[in-house]
Amino acid sequence: MTQHRVAVIGGGIAGLAAAHALLTGAAHAPHVTVFEADPVVGGKLRTSPFAGHPSIDEGPDAFLARLPWATALATSVGLGDQLVAPESGKAAVWWNGLHPIPEGLLLGMPTDVLALARSRLLSWPGKVRAATEPLRRRTSLEPDSLGGYVRARFGDQVHLRLVDPLVGSIYAADTDHFSLAAVPQIADLAGKGRSVLVTGRAMPKPAANAGPVFYAPRDGMGAFAHTTAAAVTAAGGEVRTGTTVGSLDADGSGWRVNDEHFHAVVLACPAAAAARLLTGAVPDAANALGTIPSADVAMVTLAVRAVEWPRHLFGMSGYLVPKPMQQLVTAASFGSQKWAHWAVPGSVFLRISLGRDGLPVLHLSDEELLAAAVQEVSRHLGITLQPQHTRVSRWQGAFPQYRPHHAALVERIEHALPAGLALAGASYHGIGVPACIRSAQRAAAVLHSALDPMAQ
Ligand SMILES: Cc1cc2nc3c(=O)[nH]c(=O)nc-3n(C[C@H](O)[C@H](O)[C@H](O)COP(=O)(O)OP(=O)(O)OC[C@H]3O[C@@H](n4cnc5c(N)ncnc54)[C@H](O)[C@@H]3O)c2cc1C
Repeated sequence: MTQHRVAVIGGGIAGLAAAHALLTGAAHAPHVTVFEADPVVGGKLRTSPFAGHPSIDEGPDAFLARLPWATALATSVGLGDQLVAPESGKAAVWWNGLHPIPEGLLLGMPTDVLALARSRLLSWPGKVRAATEPLRRRTSLEPDSLGGYVRARFGDQVHLRLVDPLVGSIYAADTDHFSLAAVPQIADLAGKGRSVLVTGRAMPKPAANAGPVFYAPRDGMGAFAHTTAAAVTAAGGEVRTGTTVGSLDADGSGWRVNDEHFHAVVLACPAAAAARLLTGAVPDAANALGTIPSADVAMVTLAVRAVEWPRHLFGMSGYLVPKPMQQLVTAASFGSQKWAHWAVPGSVFLRISLGRDGLPVLHLSDEELLAAAVQEVSRHLGITLQPQHTRVSRWQGAFPQYRPHHAALVERIEHALPAGLALAGASYHGIGVPACIRSAQRAAAVLHSALDPMAQ
């Protein structure tokens, strides 16, 4: 029986998970080659030494534990006993001062107006507007705009001070231009009935012993990528780093990747890169892929002296900055308070996010980004930050932006792909690490079934 050859373009977590699933998910595993342009695997999963600590993340610092795919993959590659959960610190929203995020929210959407009434984040007119949500007529889901839906149900204050900062911090999004359907927790709630508050009240509350919401490998998210790459190699796969794929062409029985023959290909690179590669071979898909935009961000990491850190901030995990209050900083995470294993005696670590969709930052130099982060966070906290160590991480094309009706666009693209080609990664069915892994496993399953009949 022929052993098929599959190319995986992109060695981020999606590409590595696709390779792992191709090698381990079927009786007759193909030979798998992962092509990664960068000198190391991982893509957005990057961890490096900082301020005396061996492994502080530059990109994601955790994955959602309540979706199964990332936890399952981490366990299967041998990281199960190294997963740690964050401390249960409170987060806040900065609106002319820090306001604790009220209880009873689902990604910023109120499910309990009493908790909202107690918060000083919203004005009384804003609270009254939110409390009248059950009296409002049904809101059409058809425009598929997250911002439009939340404004219609709860008014501008709930949208701008809660939902937009909470969802925006996950997707670097401007939620007025983001798909409602792409945020499944909110879309489910919206789809279940006329009133979010009435539906929310009837929903079962998460069990107190439901386990951690987030997990991270003790050695950082980079270790997740490196361990998965090692598992791919151990299963017989090949990982070629420092190797950009510049061409993808159809040939009689498959595809030529950089002029090398493969029976099938997983495109696990961002949509813009996939669009460039498919221009000649599948122009319809390429054109549609080219319309998926992305937002750039920067992550500034600071180490400040613990003696200079205000006592009232101890135990907090960080805060978000809503759009009307934003200059460049969108969020600050108090990393060493969020993660016990990041603690370095005498220091507090902060990770400060700058930029989002509609708020470009990468035209600025590292020095300018650092100065903006220090100046804005100092103002928010009412102190003068004097960092002992600093690091600036630039993330170009960091977050794909799911515009309204993104799901229909992706369906059209996938429909246009010939057998033997599959897409995986953050641009399509979810941006978080678990969703990327699920998309990779689906891509592997599609290729397994395309290759299976050929193997007979
Ligand atoms: C700052 C930041 C914080 C985040 N925080 C979280 C978080 O806390 N939790 C969470 O779940 N998610 C988070 N995310 C999102 C998540 O990290 C990403 O969506 C996910 O890692 C994307 O994985 P991917 O494999 O799809 O893409 P990528 O990681 O972008 O990997 C794609 C790879 O393809 C390679 N490539 C591109 N073109 C080519 C080519 N022509 N040839 C060869 N290789 C190519 C690239 O070099 C890259 O390595 C965060 C993202 C960022 C940027």
